[in-house]
Amino acid sequence: MAKEAKIKYISPIPVYKEKEYDPFIEATMQFERAAGYLDLEPWIYQRLKYPERELTVHLVITLDDGRAETFTGFRVQHSTVRGPAKGGVRYSPDASISECKALATWMTWKCAVVDLPFGGGKGAIICDTLKMSENELKKLTKEYTYAIRDIIGPYKDVPAPDMFTNAQTMAWIAEAYSQGRGCVEPAVVTGKPVHLWGSLGRAMATGTGLFFVLDEASKYLNQSLKGKKVAVLGFGNVGSSIAKLVHDAGCTVIAATDMFGGIFNEKGINPYEVEKQIAQTGSLVNFPETEPIDNESLIALPLDILIPAAVEGQITKENAAKIKAKIVLEGANGPTTLEADEILAEKKVLVAPDILANAGGVTVSYLEWVQNLQRYFFTEEEVREKTEKKMKKAFWEVVKVMEKHKVTMREAAYILAVGRVADSLRSLGRAN
Ligand code: NAD
Repeated sequence: MAKEAKIKYISPIPVYKEKEYDPFIEATMQFERAAGYLDLEPWIYQRLKYPERELTVHLVITLDDGRAETFTGFRVQHSTVRGPAKGGVRYSPDASISECKALATWMTWKCAVVDLPFGGGKGAIICDTLKMSENELKKLTKEYTYAIRDIIGPYKDVPAPDMFTNAQTMAWIAEAYSQGRGCVEPAVVTGKPVHLWGSLGRAMATGTGLFFVLDEASKYLNQSLKGKKVAVLGFGNVGSSIAKLVHDAGCTVIAATDMFGGIFNEKGINPYEVEKQIAQTGSLVNFPETEPIDNESLIALPLDILIPAAVEGQITKENAAKIKAKIVLEGANGPTTLEADEILAEKKVLVAPDILANAGGVTVSYLEWVQNLQRYFFTEEEVREKTEKKMKKAFWEVVKVMEKHKVTMREAAYILAVGRVADSLRSLGRAN
């Protein structure tokens, strides 16, 4: 930060000591910088530093082969100050409570940046979806819903899809929750199938929001998107959506990776064709007329725009200096470590931060929730217009803070978001 943040708090959380990378430590340090900058009252600082609630559940299901298996799941609510907790549910072998705490915290700030009436939450189950049948996933999802049903609900906490969960998973959650309530309650989750109370435009929402932010960032930098070289790290829901949108806007997508490997062609790769291959084979690996590439080499390519869209902690102090892109557009949550962020700031790379850049998903989730609560549905055009308005407004509000305080875009987004939640707490008079 240009103006030195007044850090007057002592963190009881060990920083970078025991573990190389801990997402909750990253999230806490990002918050502390904004808290110091805003000179928050100690009671507000304490309230926002730790999640309000962390629930761990153990779920037993009978697998297709007759064996009983126990899975561990989590639901973390970081804040419900501005509204129900909002955030995805992730199915992953690497899921952890620390990851959920970080992702829940980031959701609080993300909802505040785009000014949605939500707090932040996140959930996960430790499991490998690639090794499970649809029937097993359905049973697991329903058990998870029963286990967390007391703390979720349309006015308490509204889950959504995240990595390795999708519209089908959300339909199962809605069904299990509704069964327990004795009435249909679609507003308990968002990201549902469109024929089952979902919103038009949700599938591409995060990619669409990323594109709005990229478009505004290009205007801010007085650049055109045409002919720009782009690479996408993580070609799932978010990565494939933004890849198609930048391709349509005249950019050349030259590389992409997924968890199995990567593809590179300097002349360009058609993301629509890659998507077709993934639908057939489950991976982009061996896409015709491409060379293999790994994440580290992709990050170091001569690019204009780098889009991390996989997991946390991919851009690190080890590889940040090698980045040649002028814009890093964060599709993933927490893809850049704090140390990498400092290197990128020195290199004058514009990092469009996750809590702003990928907020299109939660914005359309908000619209889905609104539609479900009033049982009245918007057209796709209405959803797009409302999302565009929210995202662009948020972008320029962040730019205003960035220019006023001479800080990075991430720091500006945090100052805006933490400031909004702190203002709410102050006005509610929630001090003890
Ligand atoms: P997804 O499961 O659809 O896709 C994830 C992709 O990342 C897959 O292609 C997977 O193979 C790939 N991947 C996983 N580990 C990788 C690695 N080490 N290297 C390269 N690729 C890897 O998930 P998604 O919904 O696209 O989410 C991706 C990221 O975006 C996550 O950080 C998520 O929290 C964030 N996000 C998602 C949404 C949403 O609406 N889905 C909204 C905001 C943020």
